[in-house]
Amino acid sequence: MAEPGTLHDALIDELRDTYDAEKQLTKALPKLAKASSNPKLRQAFESHLQETQNQIARLEKVFASLDEKVRGKHCDGIAGIIEEGKSIMEEDFDDTTMDACLIAAGQRAEHYEMAAYGTLIAWAQAMGHTEAAKLLQQTLDEEKAADKKLSGLAEGGINQGAADAAHSEDEEPVGAGSGARKGSAKAGRR
Ligand code: ZN
Ligand code: FE
Ligand code: FE
Repeated sequence: MAEPGTLHDALIDELRDTYDAEKQLTKALPKLAKASSNPKLRQAFESHLQETQNQIARLEKVFASLDEKVRGKHCDGIAGIIEEGKSIMEEDFDDTTMDACLIAAGQRAEHYEMAAYGTLIAWAQAMGHTEAAKLLQQTLDEEKAADKKLSGLAEGGINQGAADAAHSEDEEPVGAGSGARKGSAKAGRR
């Protein structure tokens, strides 16, 4: 009878999942870049694509450090996140709103990756795989920085630009203390 799997087996399994997730992202990031109107946003997706290629190579080193063959295993989680991003790109939004939505899609992917790498690092450390943990930490730092860059772009003008376009015809700002949009003909508009 086969022995039950151990945390080491789970680590290898998660590494394969993450390796596949990164590969899926190398196909998704160029689409996000292409759909971006803001040049800084496009640049952010393009530079994260470069980083992602690097992260794939780094994961190959992680496999090697554990004497494991490089292998991927389909990551359903990131596939779902990418699928949602695709649906958003098919929507007919104004340019700045689309940029805000692309950031939202990108950040979902970054947070998923941050969760994956956080777990991988903790498990590798717990089992004394220090080289693997060190490599994985480099990638986690890049994912966090990518996420922060997207927040910076959203909060540094893209969200406000989209918000202004959404309410450009309104006479006064909405919601300041009052529960309803009084006098607005556009109440209920999405
Ligand atoms: Zn181990
Ligand atoms: Fe990544
Ligand atoms: Fe990433």
